[in-house]
Amino acid sequence: MESILPAVPPLRESSRRWVHDALEMLAQEAARSADTHLLKLNFPGFDGIDFYFKDESTHPSGSLKHRLARSLYLYALCNGRLREGQAVVDASSGSTAISEAWFARLLGLSFTAVMPACTAPRKIRDVQALGGRCDLVGDPAQVHARAAEHAARGACHLDQFGLAERATDWRGNNNIAESILQQMAREPQPVPAWIVCGAGTGGTSATIGRYLRYRRLDTRLCVAEPGGCGFAEGWRTRNHAAVARHPTLIEGIGRPRVEPGFLFDVVDQVIEVPDSASIAAAWLLEDLLGRRYGGSSGTNLVACLQLAAAMHARGERGSIVSLLCDPGVRYAETLFDPAWLADHHIELVPAREALQRCLASGRWQPLRD
Ligand SMILES: *Cc1c(COP(=O)(O)O)cnc(C)c1O
Repeated sequence: MESILPAVPPLRESSRRWVHDALEMLAQEAARSADTHLLKLNFPGFDGIDFYFKDESTHPSGSLKHRLARSLYLYALCNGRLREGQAVVDASSGSTAISEAWFARLLGLSFTAVMPACTAPRKIRDVQALGGRCDLVGDPAQVHARAAEHAARGACHLDQFGLAERATDWRGNNNIAESILQQMAREPQPVPAWIVCGAGTGGTSATIGRYLRYRRLDTRLCVAEPGGCGFAEGWRTRNHAAVARHPTLIEGIGRPRVEPGFLFDVVDQVIEVPDSASIAAAWLLEDLLGRRYGGSSGTNLVACLQLAAAMHARGERGSIVSLLCDPGVRYAETLFDPAWLADHHIELVPAREALQRCLASGRWQPLRD
């Protein structure tokens, strides 16, 4: 028996202490953080239907990926995959890299985001400002392979796409679904008819869908998806090999393929939204709430209005809850720049007018791209 040696050397006492200290730092960070606001809106055309938007842009690292990054670090630490002084890597060109860099700085770790070279300069600057490094890869399809190379050299791969769905505690622990339902508790219609979210890693929809079942609620879950993208294509036929029919301009959602974290069975409906409508809705959110939010928040708003119009047509009352995922400042040079929109052949006026008519009338007219 003497000859059976553990494959991985056991943790030294000082390393174990570092893991305990790191977990304590994450717990302290969570205790310092307030919950995000649930903002209520009502529209003239939708009598009896209350809309709520959870403002995830107010997290310290600016988006709903703050929750995911905290969970991924916790998961890596509790699985014994992350040790003192170890480098950390993930493939992300967006809000996840910013949140992961934020937590790496908190824990005193060095973080590298593997990104396509075409990533918006603003996001590269945001990661670097937090002390993160950006490893830019010419071919976007190679980012996962490059992250794996970093991991082979000893880095801890946080692996947002592989682990988002299992890193989050779906039974509670103040996950986003539990937080929404607690904030709804004193509202006139406390159990939402619908919760609407997007699918990037699929972590948010998996957590909400599981939690709704766990709590035995009648609330249904809708994924708001850019037209023709991976979740929508796969969900219809439960096909995990499905691929997007075309790319989207909406960042954070609308994946080219079915990600490992996409749980089709907890999603009751998928609504596909043309990019022009998502962007027009992102602009509309500024009129409604006095602040700018990103494109995926617009996609959510369009899906909410479509569900509300169907409820309205059936004479139903109820509440609909959705998310504001990240702030519009990240898109000043893209979605909120008229020259960029013109370059990408996005005409906002027809979609904007259709949305305004919908708010006033409670009726939905299909939008074309
Ligand atoms: C990641 C992301 C989403 C989708 O959330 P997932 O939990 O990854 O599915 C939506 N909007 C933005 C801006 C995101 O960064």
